Amino acid sequence: MRAKQLAILLLITMLTETVLAQQTTDSLAKKTEKKYQAKPPQSQPFGNEAFGSFKTTTLRWLGMAGFLINSRGTNLMVDPLLQGFDMPILIEFPIKTKDVPRLDAVLITHADNDHFSIPTNKELVGVTKAFHSTIYVDSLMKNMAWPSFGHDIGGEFKVGNVSVKLTPADHAYQNSYPKPGQRHFKNEDACGFMIQTPDGTIWAPGDSRLMDLHLNLPTPDAILFDFSDSEWHFTLAGAIKLANAYPDTPLLLSHWGSVDAPDFSPFNGDPKSLYDRVVNPKRIIVLAPGQPYTLKKLER
Ligand SMILES: [Zn+2]
Repeated sequence: MRAKQLAILLLITMLTETVLAQQTTDSLAKKTEKKYQAKPPQSQPFGNEAFGSFKTTTLRWLGMAGFLINSRGTNLMVDPLLQGFDMPILIEFPIKTKDVPRLDAVLITHADNDHFSIPTNKELVGVTKAFHSTIYVDSLMKNMAWPSFGHDIGGEFKVGNVSVKLTPADHAYQNSYPKPGQRHFKNEDACGFMIQTPDGTIWAPGDSRLMDLHLNLPTPDAILFDFSDSEWHFTLAGAIKLANAYPDTPLLLSHWGSVDAPDFSPFNGDPKSLYDRVVNPKRIIVLAPGQPYTLKKLER
């Protein structure tokens, strides 16, 4: 009897130790395992030459949600962020702020610091003719005495040979996370831009939940495509729905692969999630930061 009890006790002790050892191994593995995050190809740095006058319209992804658009010598940046972000960055920015020689305009979709980068734009003020955004973001820029213009949704303005119209956005998520004294955010505080160039139309939707209006715009020739699977963005399913509403339009991937945040959906998009769900997947354009893309008008 006593021998049997001893044997059972021994067995229980052994089992417990095995389980404990297993748990220790698991938690160690969790600590050392770095979660996978998709990254873009190696950056292609550029300088002065990208701002020259050519017979084409060329786009360059700057990383984050930023783009440089050079339309036959008219240079615009959309949501440039080239320095001073408050989270770790995965990429090398393809140009330093101090090396930007001139800009006809900077367009800002909304006030979040991954789009409205004060550290970046402060340095760009000296070489930028005009900043354009919503009425709210304009009020922030006017406080800093930048040469800025605010527009209503649907409003239009010209920058050289380019005309721009503000498209609607639904991104007033701040109201769901109120901080003491926080203002009430309105949908029209954020926008997208339909950018019409002599070589075709580019749509920068900005950050937004999917709206019916987004599915019924005049077909753009390129979309600066945010496919974040975030409830405050299009969501992945919504982004795919939007892509398939314009089944021939090239999708220049944006808002992914730039911030080291494998667990944060607005920044951890993976192009692989698109290929078997987007109609005509050859139009998914995975640019390296800085890589030139020449805009072409779709055949209609
Ligand atoms: Zn964003």
